[in-house]
Amino acid sequence: MRSFGGIEPASEARVRPIEIDALDQPVSSLKGVGTKTSAALGRLGVSSIRDLILYRPRRYEPPAPRRDVGELLSGEEATLDVEVVNTSLRRTRRRNLTILEALVRDSTGSIVATWFNQAWLSEKLTPGVHLQIRGTLDRGDFAVRSYELGTEPIADITPLYPASDALASKRIRDLVRLALEHLESLGEPLPARLRATQRLPHKADAVLALHQPRVMDDVETARQRLAFEELLVMQLGLAARPDAEDRDAAPFSEPGELISRYRAALPFEFTAAQERVIVEIDGDLEKSDAMQRLLQGDVGSGKTVVALYALMRAVEAGQQGALMAPTETLAEQHFLTVERICAELGIGCVLLTSSLPTAAAREARALLETGEAGIAIGTHALIQDQIAFRALGVAVVDEQHRFGVEQRHALATHRSIDTPDRVPHQLYMTATPIPRTLALTVWGDLAISEINQPPAGRRPIVTSWTTHERASEAYLRLRSHLENGRQAYVVCPLITASGASEGRAAEDEARRLQSAELADLRVGCIHGQLPTRDRRALMEAFAAGELDVLVATTVIEVGIDVPNASIMIVQEADRFGLAQLHQLRGRVGRGEHQSYCLLVSRAKKELTEMASERLDAMVSTTDGFELAEIDLELRGHGQLLGTRQKGLSDLRFTRPRSDQELLRAARDVASELDEVDEILTLEVARMFGDADHRGRA
Ligand code: ADP
Ligand code: MG
Repeated sequence: MRSFGGIEPASEARVRPIEIDALDQPVSSLKGVGTKTSAALGRLGVSSIRDLILYRPRRYEPPAPRRDVGELLSGEEATLDVEVVNTSLRRTRRRNLTILEALVRDSTGSIVATWFNQAWLSEKLTPGVHLQIRGTLDRGDFAVRSYELGTEPIADITPLYPASDALASKRIRDLVRLALEHLESLGEPLPARLRATQRLPHKADAVLALHQPRVMDDVETARQRLAFEELLVMQLGLAARPDAEDRDAAPFSEPGELISRYRAALPFEFTAAQERVIVEIDGDLEKSDAMQRLLQGDVGSGKTVVALYALMRAVEAGQQGALMAPTETLAEQHFLTVERICAELGIGCVLLTSSLPTAAAREARALLETGEAGIAIGTHALIQDQIAFRALGVAVVDEQHRFGVEQRHALATHRSIDTPDRVPHQLYMTATPIPRTLALTVWGDLAISEINQPPAGRRPIVTSWTTHERASEAYLRLRSHLENGRQAYVVCPLITASGASEGRAAEDEARRLQSAELADLRVGCIHGQLPTRDRRALMEAFAAGELDVLVATTVIEVGIDVPNASIMIVQEADRFGLAQLHQLRGRVGRGEHQSYCLLVSRAKKELTEMASERLDAMVSTTDGFELAEIDLELRGHGQLLGTRQKGLSDLRFTRPRSDQELLRAARDVASELDEVDEILTLEVARMFGDADHRGRA
């Protein structure tokens, strides 16, 4: 590892306060970064100079051999050091691409170098300009893949950054280079002694190696160094977290008659995995310390009926149960399921969302206050101030990563009318499985249960990917499923024609399909802008088999549960994130029928590399764990399957699955560290983002 211009502890201490602020400057403070670029960076999760410095390359391009023009071989990748003779622009007739051609030369000869769709570059390539180009000799021309102006030797290994349509990897590379001028301000959070014993490079060295590695081994050493630090910071932050407050809860006696009737009411037996989780939940409910359990299980693994089991336990104990979901569609869907079973068992059940008419909401609240309603299903409307439960015994939070910490907290600490000195038992659910050790780290105060096996008879969903020129074949397949009595989803992306609302766009598309690919079929269209009543009516109609196809926006991402639906077409699938695609796909494959997910994208040539990799990943696996890790690698910025929660989203360098060893090391160090210096304290405060830690860490 190269050495980095020696930062002495003394000088470090003197310059630190100002310098650290320098890194917190917005990216717009960099030369040449205007509102458009900073917005594009923002969408990639980069808002400060620090974010840029810590922006992790997604992968690296190995070096290409340096060649003279005279010795170029056709088809071989090479790097050339050349001078511009002249340039010209032309347009292809068929595909309307601009091609920039530059005649370039070195001492051994000249050649035409070509760039696609980079007309603006012609201004820079004036005669006499020196540049280095990397690419391949193809039919006599040199097709340029990357270039660098100037004669200073370019890095042999090229980092490729998570990029977007609005911001190319090359531009990000240039911006990172600018940001690296502030590298010194990073400081070194790890004590020298620790670095010595753990054989960890200086932080600045690691960051530099990440962006400008000389050999590939540098990259992994650097990544581990940075991952170790963030895991250590996380450990320290968690350790300094204020103690859990009062956790007194009502202990429940053994499952009784209501639970037997609940089991009998289900049209299936619990799987072994579900039974195991139920035993764990029962164990918690016996105690007078509130249950705080995280239930992990992939999409479709059957978490809902387990959650309902816990709610039923509360009812059986003469108390109430509440289930909070992140969206209205999901809450409504849960309500449909739960209401049916509750009716059979004679339990009062209410739905509470913010779109409920005032009178209905008042009535629901009254039923919860009197205790007539044993179970409440709802959105964050459940935690509004006016809501008082008679005796809330169990609180379930579905898709818990989509809630803020405060929202979960509000439900977890609800004080009921009859039991003001107790809090409810809590069950948190997530379809974003992460390895147990990491989960324990991030949610240190939660016990963890996993449903690691889908209900019996489920066959993995078969996923395929085609481009829109061949979309008609996908619709033919869809029709053949419908002929066999199945139902289908067609998902449209959020992108709307200019001016049209998202709902309008979906409706227009549904109409178009109805008059073409889906002619003669019963088609419904569901989207977020429909009134709740209509949305519910549509979901019920689809569940009852009165509709063949549901054309939908991502409102169906979570919550729709129709086992007879066995095929899904996702239009413009390249526009969706991996987490979203996985969730969407989870809407099929919920019954005994072999199910299919057909991803339809724009032409492959028009896709970004990341979009192609996302679609490839979807085709190659249905495992949520695996997709989570691929997503993390692709997006690079620790946005684990769309998690919004503090903690996980701060892990930029950790590989959740393969860094278990590193995690253990960080944990050991955290418990032994006797002095935590100022920079490290700041890092903890930064990760946890609260005054609490700033004071205590
Ligand atoms: P998750 O919330 O984990 O994504 P759900 O709870 O919605 O999954 O369950 C998916 C589907 O599987 C539902 O239709 C549910 O009724 C069904 N299901 C759940 N458990 C079983 C089981 N043990 N056997 C058969 N089907 C089950
Ligand atoms: Mg669910």
